[in-house]
Amino acid sequence: MSINSISLWDASSEEQDHHSEFTGTEKADIAIVGGGFTGLSTALHCAERGLSAHVLEAKQIGYGGSGRNCGLVNAALWLPPQDVRKQLGQTYGPRFIEQFGKGPEYVFSLIEKHQMRCEATRTGTIHAAHSASGYRELKGRTEEWLRLGQPVDLLERDAVSELIGTDVFYGGLLDHRAGTINPMGYCRGLARAALGAGATISTGVRATKLTKEAGEWMIATDQGELRAKTVVLGTNAYTDDLWPDLKKVFTMIHYFQLATTPLTDKASHILPGKQGLWDTGQIMFNYRRDAYDRLLIGSMGTIVGGINKGLSQRWARKQIKRLFPSLSEVEFEQAWHGQIAMTPDHLPRIYELDENLYTAIGYNGRGITTGTVFGKALSELLTGVKKEDLPLPISSLQTVPSAPFYKRLYQCAFTANQMIKSV
Ligand SMILES: Cc1cc2nc3c(=O)[nH]c(=O)nc-3n(C[C@H](O)[C@H](O)[C@H](O)COP(=O)(O)OP(=O)(O)OC[C@H]3O[C@@H](n4cnc5c(N)ncnc54)[C@H](O)[C@@H]3O)c2cc1C
Repeated sequence: MSINSISLWDASSEEQDHHSEFTGTEKADIAIVGGGFTGLSTALHCAERGLSAHVLEAKQIGYGGSGRNCGLVNAALWLPPQDVRKQLGQTYGPRFIEQFGKGPEYVFSLIEKHQMRCEATRTGTIHAAHSASGYRELKGRTEEWLRLGQPVDLLERDAVSELIGTDVFYGGLLDHRAGTINPMGYCRGLARAALGAGATISTGVRATKLTKEAGEWMIATDQGELRAKTVVLGTNAYTDDLWPDLKKVFTMIHYFQLATTPLTDKASHILPGKQGLWDTGQIMFNYRRDAYDRLLIGSMGTIVGGINKGLSQRWARKQIKRLFPSLSEVEFEQAWHGQIAMTPDHLPRIYELDENLYTAIGYNGRGITTGTVFGKALSELLTGVKKEDLPLPISSLQTVPSAPFYKRLYQCAFTANQMIKSV
C-alpha cells in the first residue's frame, strides 16, 4: 500500500486513477468544479445529453469525501421518512423519498452499465440499535417504510446477532435496497464513464476565482482559465473561498476509519452477508468487511495518532474486542479521515448562487446516492427540465453563523468519545 494513499480505497481500487493536462485557455458549455460523485455525475449526465462538460479538480479524482467514505450505498437520509415529508412538504417530500429510495438501484445500474470495478455488493445495509430506545426508533422507521411499500425488515436481537456476528445490539433495520462499494472505485468509474461520454477532466487544477464576462463565466485557476456558460460547484465539505459565503452554509465535521489487514476466515462470522452497518448512537460508529476480508471500523472525529499507535487505533482495538471477543489481536494497514458537510436540518441543498451558477451541497454523510442523483438532476435542469421538477426546491443561500463554534465543539466531543471508549 502506498504511504501517500488518502484512504484504503485509494490504494485498493481496481479502477485506475485519471490524470489529464489542462491547457489553461479552454471553453465548455458546463464547467464543473470538484471531481467527486457530484461533479463527475454532473459531467457524465451532461456529456450524455450532448453538452461539453469540463471538470476541474484541485487534487485527484475522489480526493474529497468521495474517495474516503465508508462505501455504504444508502437509500435514504439520516432522517426518518416521516420527518423528511414534514420538512419538505407534500410536493417535494414524497418525490424526494421516492427518488432517493430508488437511488441505490440507479447507482448499481451505472456500475453495471459501465462495468465499474468497485466491489459492489447488493445485500443491504443494517442500522443497528445501540439501546432499547434506539430499537424503538428503528421500529417507527421500519413501520413507515413498510407503509410506503419499501423492502425493509425489522430484526429482533437474535436475528440481528446472527446477521452481524455479535450480540451487543438490541436489534436492527435491514434495508434491502442498499449495498456497499469501494467508493474510490465507483468515483474513478464515474470519471471513466464521463470521459467515455466525451467530458474533459483536469486534475491538479484549483479554481481560484469566478467572474462573469459578456454573459459567460470565466473561471480563473492556478494554471490558466476556463470559460463556460454555466458552472456547477461540486465542492461540498471541501469548499474553499471560491464563492463568497458558500463554506458558511454548513458545519464541517470529520469522520474517521481504520482498516485491518485481510482477516481471512477469522472474520467469516462478522457480517457474513457483507452488509455495511452503522448504529443508532448519537456519536455513531460503523463497521463492514471489504472484498478482501479487511475489517473497517470508524466513527465521528479525526484520526488521533497513527495507523498502529495513538488514540484512534486504541479506540478501534477496544471496539473490536467488545464486538468480537473471539478475534485475537488485529493489525491495521490504513487509517484516514475525511470531511462531512452537515446542515442544521440534516437535509441537502441545491443552490442557484447566481445566474447559471449552481451547487448541490450539505449531504450530511450520505453522498454516494445523493451526489449521483443530484448530478443527474442538475444535468436535466441544464438541458431544459423545469426547476420545479428537481428532487428538492432550489434554496436561497443561508449561512449558519454558529457553524465555526459547533465545528470546534463537535471536534472536542468526538475526541473525548474516543478517549472514554478506549479505556
Ligand atoms: C469518512 C466518511 C465516511 C462517509 N461515509 C459515507 C457512506 O458510507 N455513504 C455515503 O453515501 N456517504 C458517506 N460519506 C459522505 C460522502 O462521502 C460525501 O457526501 C460525498 O463524497 C460528497 O461528494 P461530492 O462530490 O459532493 O464532494 P467531494 O467528494 O468532497 O468532492 C469535492 C471535491 O472538490 C474539490 N475542490 C474543492 N475546492 C476546489 C477548487 N477551488 N477547485 C477545484 N477543486 C476543488 C476537492 O478537492 C474535492 O475533491 C462519508 C464521508 C466521509 C468523510
